[in-house]
Amino acid sequence: MNTTIIEEITEIKKYDSIDGKYGEYGGMYVPPILEGKLLDLAKFFMVTKSQPDFEAEYLHYLKTFVGRPSPLYYAQNLSKLLGSRIYLKREDLNHTGSHKINNTIGQILLAKRMGATEIVAETGAGQHGVATATAAALFGIKCKIFMGSKDAERQKMNLSRIKLLGAEVILTNEGRGTLKDAVDAALGYYIENPDVYYLLGSQVGPHPYPTMVGYFQSIIGREAKKQFFEIEGKLPDNLFACVGGGSNAIGLFADFLYDSDVAIFAAEGGGYGPEMGNTAATLSLGKPGVFQGTYSYALTDDNDEVYHTHSIAAGLDYPGISPQHSLLKDTNRASYHLITDAEAIAAFKLLSKREGIIPAIESSHAVALALKVLKDRPNDISIINLSGRGDKDVERDLM
Ligand SMILES: *Cc1c(COP(=O)(O)O)cnc(C)c1O
Repeated sequence: MNTTIIEEITEIKKYDSIDGKYGEYGGMYVPPILEGKLLDLAKFFMVTKSQPDFEAEYLHYLKTFVGRPSPLYYAQNLSKLLGSRIYLKREDLNHTGSHKINNTIGQILLAKRMGATEIVAETGAGQHGVATATAAALFGIKCKIFMGSKDAERQKMNLSRIKLLGAEVILTNEGRGTLKDAVDAALGYYIENPDVYYLLGSQVGPHPYPTMVGYFQSIIGREAKKQFFEIEGKLPDNLFACVGGGSNAIGLFADFLYDSDVAIFAAEGGGYGPEMGNTAATLSLGKPGVFQGTYSYALTDDNDEVYHTHSIAAGLDYPGISPQHSLLKDTNRASYHLITDAEAIAAFKLLSKREGIIPAIESSHAVALALKVLKDRPNDISIINLSGRGDKDVERDLM
């Protein structure tokens, strides 16, 4: 092989991983009791994911149960208002109301093949809890959902849905009662009961979760690329998504990472602004360290203690981030921006009133970022990932 081909291959692998390492990020930082389990899971995933019957089963449920492909919708009013053409990838129209179901269907099919009899999961905004309880009901598997008490309060409707679907909810009062605390509780339960299947909901945690979650969400970008090409006959200029742990964002971005003409923008939960304790903008303000089983950016102080976080969006209110996004930040392949609560609320109202689509408050961060970036770009055509619908947020008093 000549060097150019070798260089090309290295280039192609640059942002991806099969062993759980994204540059220096990722890996498996867990107690020995989990290491063997996770290595088995990694091996099982790698072998199973491309087996034709597994792929067929995964795509069957995405089509018939989830309702994929989700539409790529030209947002005519928003585009007119802004003077820049915008398409929305409508993950809000999936069954259960967000992108989370893409990953839960994939993982529960794996769990079923591994013979799992109990599923556990964490949830923040409740969308992953609902998606997991839904998948568990579909396949008749026992299910436990860990949720922080503050999130249970601010996302009441999803708490009721999880219970109705037959899952057991375990509220945690540790910390601030948010997503980080739910992950801690679920990981703790997993360490004590290593025979359960832990169905992690974002692109975080130890290997193989970031690779697995990224893979099952990449359906979003593969569809969007094809849909966009059918309408516009080319690639989009810009992609936008919000990042909590990073799963809906990598879902949209993955298939475009090596298309260097496509600019990639991600919106972080900026809370009240850029001060520790008031924000959840991990890549904008954090630093690399080991957090919840992986080496990645995190909002930690000089003693590696995790700062409290704040975001109005429970799904973004998290001090960690995906190792793959950490690499995309360091290599400048994607840019990460702090969007405040107030900016997200304005976008939430704007999309509702002007387009007739009520977005999740998480997704509203991506809309807010697009509004800022695209102000003076009349010739651009962009895709915003609308990660979820806002039913869960309408009864909250969003100022
Ligand atoms: C969970 C959630 C998010 C944030 O999680 P990611 O893993 O970063 O995608 C964003 N939007 C919605 C609607 C969610 O439910």
